[in-house]
Amino acid sequence: MLYAKSAMMHMGRYVTGLGEAASRHGAKIWEKAPMTGRRREGNGWVIETPKGEIRAERIIAATNGYSNSVDAAPLRYFKKRIISVGSFIVATRPLTPEEIAATLPGNRTYVTSMNIGNYFRLSPDNRLIFGGRARFSATSDQSSDEKSGKVLRASLARMFPHLANADIDYCWGGMVGMTKDRYPRAGEADGMLYGMGYSGHGAQMSTLMGQVLADMAMGRTDTNPLQGLSWPQVPLHSGKPWFLPLVGLYFGLKDRLS
Ligand SMILES: Cc1cc2nc3c(=O)[nH]c(=O)nc-3n(C[C@H](O)[C@H](O)[C@H](O)COP(=O)(O)OP(=O)(O)OC[C@H]3O[C@@H](n4cnc5c(N)ncnc54)[C@H](O)[C@@H]3O)c2cc1C
Repeated sequence: MLYAKSAMMHMGRYVTGLGEAASRHGAKIWEKAPMTGRRREGNGWVIETPKGEIRAERIIAATNGYSNSVDAAPLRYFKKRIISVGSFIVATRPLTPEEIAATLPGNRTYVTSMNIGNYFRLSPDNRLIFGGRARFSATSDQSSDEKSGKVLRASLARMFPHLANADIDYCWGGMVGMTKDRYPRAGEADGMLYGMGYSGHGAQMSTLMGQVLADMAMGRTDTNPLQGLSWPQVPLHSGKPWFLPLVGLYFGLKDRLS
């Protein structure tokens, strides 16, 4: 199926641009200062971080697939509901014009319709960027990304046999936040506003929900399309998704049988 109006985004530039725009409008950004605890003070909160304390009237939790990345008791509600899954990408060496013509004519973005699918496109310098969930890993770090990169390389070779021996120059990954029904959630819990659970499709949804969460912080809830949606916890889940390999096997089997 072809969506003629589809487009590509450079997520690194986008997130940097969002950060710069927020700073221009007066937001303060503290990097490497995760909330590890919090306590009430007057009508607001004192947020504890390893770098010091921050006072705030409202707290918005937008921690998505990173909700269990630090030991933060206040995020317990989300840890029982968000399933953090690694998502990974490899980039080949720049392709030749002949290889491009045989691989991605028309320079479009592609996504497969499998449960454990892949998405791919060309970079501006003609590398094939090829991504996917790879092996349903619960972590993204150098070693996990490398293992997932090998799985992606094998998928790439199956799909494009003529690129089976093309060098892989880059490999990276990160965490996405899934919900059980793969539908995002936004509302208020444990004294915090929250928006998360974009299930791998947060580039655009989290931007929209950021505006909604700002409305909610100002006391307006009628712009929240997810208002009132229940969010039961995932049974037997408290942050580390031990069941991911089983989920991977299940969806892999469904793909093979379909
Ligand atoms: C490889 C890869 C490919 C992807 N491809 C696509 C795609 O093609 N299309 C798409 O729509 N989406 C894609 N996604 C998903 C998309 O990146 C996410 O859905 C999106 O980033 C969610 O944005 P967010 O702001 O809600 O959360 P995130 O960007 O995950 O940010 C959460 C933040 O919370 C912070 N945090 C965690 N704990 C604490 C704490 N205790 N205190 C303070 N801060 C904390 C983290 O440091 C992090 O900065 C992809 C993701 C990956 C990893």
